[in-house]
Amino acid sequence: MAVEPPAASPAGLVAPVLTARSGGGPKHVALTFDDGPGPHTATLLRHLAAHDARATFFVVGRNVAADPGLARRIVAAGHQIGGHTWSHPDLTTLPPAAIRAELARTDRAVRAATGVTPKIVRPPYGALNATVRAQTRRPMVLWDVDTEDWRLHDTAVVARRAIRQVRPGSVVLFHDIHAETVRAIPRVLRCLSARGYRFVTVDQLFGG
Ligand SMILES: [Zn+2]
Repeated sequence: MAVEPPAASPAGLVAPVLTARSGGGPKHVALTFDDGPGPHTATLLRHLAAHDARATFFVVGRNVAADPGLARRIVAAGHQIGGHTWSHPDLTTLPPAAIRAELARTDRAVRAATGVTPKIVRPPYGALNATVRAQTRRPMVLWDVDTEDWRLHDTAVVARRAIRQVRPGSVVLFHDIHAETVRAIPRVLRCLSARGYRFVTVDQLFGG
């Protein structure tokens, strides 16, 4: 995916944009789960543990504040947490101070719940522009495989879309707030494991 370079910001901040690790290499894939944590996240954690799989959770700050124990379990299980804003707005519609507040409030909630500060950010809807990228140096993580699970609500179709589109170095977009998505994960893990894939965090995928 080509990404326009951002205009220089006065503070010199420019978030790099990551979509997938290109160039082949080992069969590693980063499964990412947005918009939680929520009622199905604990089930997802059990599926991931059963396959010794690591994943990345782009959490909504207000959901972390509502259930800090669940965020703590995500980190304790070896998964990575990234920020996905406090209230899930389209950041390209907000002024700079409001963008920074959305990120900072989420950071505080995650830190209070888990002791760690998110090192990566995923903007809601993947909506980015130069103003958004000028508010942080942290990488903005997009994806190369979109399961469209939020639209499909179909376990078999979501699993098939993920399995068919994954390549070595892929970043796969799911939403763990949907029961159908979480039900698709055992099949995704089984099929991709059988093809030799390892499930790593975004940090691990990009060599962090
Ligand atoms: Zn989202």
